[in-house]
Amino acid sequence: MDAKAVIPASFNTQLQSPFFTTPSELRDAIYDHLIPPRAHIILRNQRLQFSACVRRNGEDWPLHTGPDPIVKGKCRTAADHLLWERLRSPWGSHFRCEEVANGSEDSQQEFEGETMVWMNPTRVCRRMLTEFVGRMADVIVLHVNDLNTLGIVLPRDSEPEQPKNKTSTLLEHLVGHLKALDISMRLDLSAYVNIEQESDYPSKNPDLSDLVQRFGKRDVPTSAWTALPLALKYMPALRHLDIWLDHTHPMSWCIVNERAFLTPLFTMTLRTNPDLAISINLPKPNPRYQSPDRHLLWDSLEVLGTGQKSGSGRIRIIRRDRQRQSPVNWLDGTARINWRSDLSI
Ligand SMILES: [Zn+2]
Repeated sequence: MDAKAVIPASFNTQLQSPFFTTPSELRDAIYDHLIPPRAHIILRNQRLQFSACVRRNGEDWPLHTGPDPIVKGKCRTAADHLLWERLRSPWGSHFRCEEVANGSEDSQQEFEGETMVWMNPTRVCRRMLTEFVGRMADVIVLHVNDLNTLGIVLPRDSEPEQPKNKTSTLLEHLVGHLKALDISMRLDLSAYVNIEQESDYPSKNPDLSDLVQRFGKRDVPTSAWTALPLALKYMPALRHLDIWLDHTHPMSWCIVNERAFLTPLFTMTLRTNPDLAISINLPKPNPRYQSPDRHLLWDSLEVLGTGQKSGSGRIRIIRRDRQRQSPVNWLDGTARINWRSDLSI
């Protein structure tokens, strides 16, 4: 991409430096060597910062879905308590990345090399910052794991209220040219309920309606999610949007009205960004309770109007078994891990 498009400000071209007299392809290769394939963006003390992605390919433990519990009942050992924390990680399968971001001692030791030194080129000079961020937009997958951060990172019409720091300024330019975004979130169940109650997709299933009503509305801000479809308009370079969702409650995933939560996103994408491919990873709904008015009962959605065959669509639904262990705080204050032997609601 044209790096100057990322941060359109005048800067010293630094041609006295041999580095900048080399072909741009060579400089890109050097930047590629520094830029990790993935990184998280997190909000700490109202400031945005990057954090390492240390998830290993295929590593979904402790999101255990097999027939036998790993741990069940009261947490007794340090390992039990660690599992309890990981089972409730709002970052889902990136639980280990959350530990690194939170400065967990074990994770810091295990991933000692996963520091943010790769950002150092942004501190050298304005030209290197410009080129480096331009290259980042092309090659990195940016991970977002909570609605607060999403709300700040997403581009919008108006200026954000939060004070800017160097990372937020850099992100502003990065996100506008970003090619791959990953949103993995285990949200409070109320977030889904709130969105359903404000949507055009009310439940027609009386059993599930009762349950949704029972949860009612709670003060869980969801504006970042509802702003996502519109924000995609300002991310024309985006080619891959991967979304992983779950909720925090032990109750089955069926209670979530997938259509209310996701249809606005699909509609806007199909309308505004014909080159964007969306992948949605969701728990399997219980067949007894799944219904076409609430759940997405297709694997992929073809590009509207192009005549492409089903299966080659830009929107793909991936179903996974939901973890069967739930971390709970018992009435006596102890941490326990509940085990669900089936997926009934
Ligand atoms: Zn990660």
